[in-house]
Amino acid sequence: MSSKEFCNLIDRIYNPSKVVYAYLNVTPEYAEFFEDKEKTTLLLTLRFIQPGERPQPAKRTFHTVQELRKFHNPPELPLKGVRIALDPGHIGGKWASLEERSVIWNNNPVIREGDKNIQVAKLIRTRLKAAGAQVYLTHDKPDPLTDTRPKDFMDEARELVYQKKGITEDSPKAARDACRKLITWYAELFFYRRAEIAQRAENLRNEFPSDINISNHFNATERSGSGEIVKDNRHVFLLNGCYGPDEMDNPVTRFYMFSKLLEQSLNIEMAAGDAITAHLLKVASLPPAKYGREKYQCRVNQNPYLYARNLAASRQYPGPTLILEPFYMNNAWTAARLSAGDYDGVRPIAGGMYRSLLREYADAVADALIEVYGKWTVDKKSPKSKD
Ligand SMILES: [Zn+2]
Repeated sequence: MSSKEFCNLIDRIYNPSKVVYAYLNVTPEYAEFFEDKEKTTLLLTLRFIQPGERPQPAKRTFHTVQELRKFHNPPELPLKGVRIALDPGHIGGKWASLEERSVIWNNNPVIREGDKNIQVAKLIRTRLKAAGAQVYLTHDKPDPLTDTRPKDFMDEARELVYQKKGITEDSPKAARDACRKLITWYAELFFYRRAEIAQRAENLRNEFPSDINISNHFNATERSGSGEIVKDNRHVFLLNGCYGPDEMDNPVTRFYMFSKLLEQSLNIEMAAGDAITAHLLKVASLPPAKYGREKYQCRVNQNPYLYARNLAASRQYPGPTLILEPFYMNNAWTAARLSAGDYDGVRPIAGGMYRSLLREYADAVADALIEVYGKWTVDKKSPKSKD
């Protein structure tokens, strides 16, 4: 890419606060990446393309749009040769309450988000396979992929909490005991967020270099954990970007940010994100999520539902990655439809005759991916030609 494209991607998408320039020297010819803000240790120099030069293809884990256009797929198999990884959000099952994703709303039965996400991902898989895709699920059972457990992170969590609270091993027992709950909370967080997501990312890198990764969730408002039902209901879809100003001092985070920027997955993420938005709006025409804390999320194009945000999964998964957060589970309409689960046909639920929400969600995602990839892969000149 050119120096201008590189800076444009930092300024608009990846680090709008521009704090990362403290670690860079950027000229029209090259960028120098430094380990420190004093710029004493040079890590690498990246040469930019110059006017009249041919771009050198970068090493990627996914097919570019240009490569997808050479597929010439038959219209009945638009996803032939396309590799799609589905990552149902969270773990679910007996881990759901520890993940704070197990809630009872109104008189509905308990809803474990991780379990619903697995059901949706399996339904998406069936549709994508029928369209010719190779499909990989990060997990199809509500079990962790990481070998670690919360107990493995107790020491680290204790150290962190003691530091935050200004407590030492010599502090009174009562003061130390008062930290117990928070220590457990951090140890669990390190297990289900950090270790589990890192393991999924590693498996993706080793087992299934994909053309796109789709992490499917159901959203909820912040206080949903206490069983609070809200009238509000919204959609939001996230791609990786908008790294916060305080996140740039971590060298590993900078590594992931520049990996994302340089792999140039943004155009595919935006096209797929726009198509998924359009199809999910047909399922439920809800407004976009309202975001505060603008340093940590930003719009990327004309689509008001699509945001860049730095999340563990989209940061670490290689290649184009979208995190889907449609619906608030703690909205009465959504909760009633989720509780009804998966079923054939239509049923009277929440004041309407509805198909299973899980199926409507899955079909919307599958239809969107078939539509957007089909535009690239299907041979338009000779629709009946076989490759
Ligand atoms: Zn979720």
